[in-house]
Amino acid sequence: MRLLLLAPPGAGKGTQGERLAARYRVRHIAAGDLLRAEAEAGTPAGREIAAYQARGDLVPDQIVLAALIPAVVEAAAGGGYILDGFPRTLPQATAAAELAARLGVALDAVVYLFAPEQVLTRRLLDRASQRGRADDVADVIRHRLRVFAETTGPLIPYYTERGILVAVDADQPPDSVTADIEARLSGGRSR
Ligand code: ADP
Repeated sequence: MRLLLLAPPGAGKGTQGERLAARYRVRHIAAGDLLRAEAEAGTPAGREIAAYQARGDLVPDQIVLAALIPAVVEAAAGGGYILDGFPRTLPQATAAAELAARLGVALDAVVYLFAPEQVLTRRLLDRASQRGRADDVADVIRHRLRVFAETTGPLIPYYTERGILVAVDADQPPDSVTADIEARLSGGRSR
């Protein structure tokens, strides 16, 4: 199984990504987590990543590709992956498609999780009070949602045109979202 989770901040990509990876026994590749780990390592690239993440800006494509491609190659050899948060720009999507072609694999589906903006904001502020991620503060949240709409949004028509987009309502309890995703993936009603 090779899936991409495409979702604005707060939609539950991470939660659903972990569950789907366990369900399909494939690796969960969370772009934000990989980049945060590199930031914490404190390398020169890591310091640059940390600055983009703290502002809620996307990390430049070249840095993202360098961090993500090895993980994707390894997971593809191991039988599949749940990509969570990568690709997130059109150039990343093109690079990912070229990589997949070179590896002789293709995405089975792109799961687009959607929810109203006030729901997303409330969830992120709730998370902030528990875990305190540097980018979970009101003005950075607002910025991340705008970046999603402007820069990641174009991936929705991109994958729709390729016939693999599955849109799922994320404004439901996590178990219901998981059930909807699994039903849509096994029923094929999306295509
Ligand atoms: P969220 O989706 O809630 O913003 P993530 O952990 O997926 O959480 O991403 C956090 C931050 O990591 C983003 O704001 C961005 O700075 C960086 N990031 C994650 N994935 C990518 C990507 N594919 N391209 C560029 N930057 C990314």
